[in-house]
Amino acid sequence: MKKRSWAEPYKIKMVEPLKMLSKQERLKAIKDAGYNTFLLRSEDVYIDLLTDSGTSAMSDRQWAGMMLGDEAYAGSRNFYHLEETVQNVYGYKHLVPTHQGRAAEHMISKILIKKGDFIPGNMYFTTTKLHQEMAGAKFVDVIVDEAHDPNSEYPFKGDIDLNKLQALIDKVGADKIPYVAMATTVNMAGGQPISLGNLKAVRELTQKHGIDIVHDMTRVAENAYMIQQKEAGYQDKTVAEIVKEINLLTDHATMSAKKDALVNIGGFLATNDPEVFQEARNMVVVYEGLHTYGGLAGRDMEAMAIGIKESVADGHQRARIGQVQYLGDLLLKAGVPIVKPVGTHGVFLDAKAFYPQLTQDEFPAQTLAAELYVDSGVRAMERGVVSAGRNAETGKHNYPKLELVRLTIPRRVYTQAHMDVVAESVIEVYEKAKEASGLKMVYEPKYLRFFQARFEKL
Ligand SMILES: *Cc1c(COP(=O)(O)O)cnc(C)c1O
Repeated sequence: MKKRSWAEPYKIKMVEPLKMLSKQERLKAIKDAGYNTFLLRSEDVYIDLLTDSGTSAMSDRQWAGMMLGDEAYAGSRNFYHLEETVQNVYGYKHLVPTHQGRAAEHMISKILIKKGDFIPGNMYFTTTKLHQEMAGAKFVDVIVDEAHDPNSEYPFKGDIDLNKLQALIDKVGADKIPYVAMATTVNMAGGQPISLGNLKAVRELTQKHGIDIVHDMTRVAENAYMIQQKEAGYQDKTVAEIVKEINLLTDHATMSAKKDALVNIGGFLATNDPEVFQEARNMVVVYEGLHTYGGLAGRDMEAMAIGIKESVADGHQRARIGQVQYLGDLLLKAGVPIVKPVGTHGVFLDAKAFYPQLTQDEFPAQTLAAELYVDSGVRAMERGVVSAGRNAETGKHNYPKLELVRLTIPRRVYTQAHMDVVAESVIEVYEKAKEASGLKMVYEPKYLRFFQARFEKL
């Protein structure tokens, strides 16, 4: 068959000019930023792949929706539109809006966790785990072993290892496990999806023991697309149908709408449990705002409702994930070590394989992100020992197996030509990897240190 290319299912109506610094200016900028890409000024960045969080381009429909914002303190019509959308598209009964995902994580952790509990999950996420710990629980990683191996081609590296979950239940008892934390997709594993077969099995096991499932549904539509592409029996289902099927197997959900849902700010807690809903509605007025706005303007809720509907369109996900795969394929062809298979929201560089000369105490991924910025002005993010923080009991660094740099692709923002430029720069940095020396940490914040830590060259 002749090759037929696909293209983005939209055209560009507004542009935002980019600035490009000289190499000398970039060297100074990264030094001033303590070799932490989070501390760079966005204006000093050429192509910004720090995160896909809140960085996506809204559609003309979403912008039109902003003008329909009903900025009433209570009972805004945009809240009801959002509530109806969460019920119809996602299938959860009750909605509590929040300003972003971590506010929902805060509430669900406080509501469901008692001190001394254990929360098994398919790999940790930074804010999720911290809120679980602050509520008194210990997080236990029960993801499949393949997830920790950047070279494993297993298609559903987000799956939970049922033996690990069963072993935890046997060890601590089901009454110490209020819920399983199940994320779609698994960010820290490289944007890897779960399979519906696995979720069904987890559901069966947890129901037997009266354990809930809290679904981190931040990228559920991207996960659904991967199920459609790779899991037997789902080829003829739409992304929208698969999203619903996933959600119906879970009890509560936290959402960072800044990812899948194509908005610059927003999130929510959703639940099917009327008691949890009551408590969350009570709590949200303390931390976020009234239960019909939760820290958002009416216009934000309107843009979110429209973005949720756009996010489950097959054509949107095909282009979104297609662009990520395109970048991944360029790097694979050049022999650059990346996490395989390529995930849905970014390409993850294997910094340990880039820099075999560096120990994890010399922060290989932090180093790689800084080198990449100096080479081309492309901004990426560390996902390794800095992000993993310290062990709450021993105070020592956590040493994750994966030491990664994430090239995260915002939705609908960059073109294929931008992806070519990124690939060329990564390849150049890889070719010069032998020359690189590591970093030492000179300032370490107490919480989520990767955001604000500062480094110096060794
Ligand atoms: C971004 C993210 C969160 C936290 O959401 P915020 O909107 O940044 O507070 C939680 N879980 C996952 C998987 C995420 O990617």
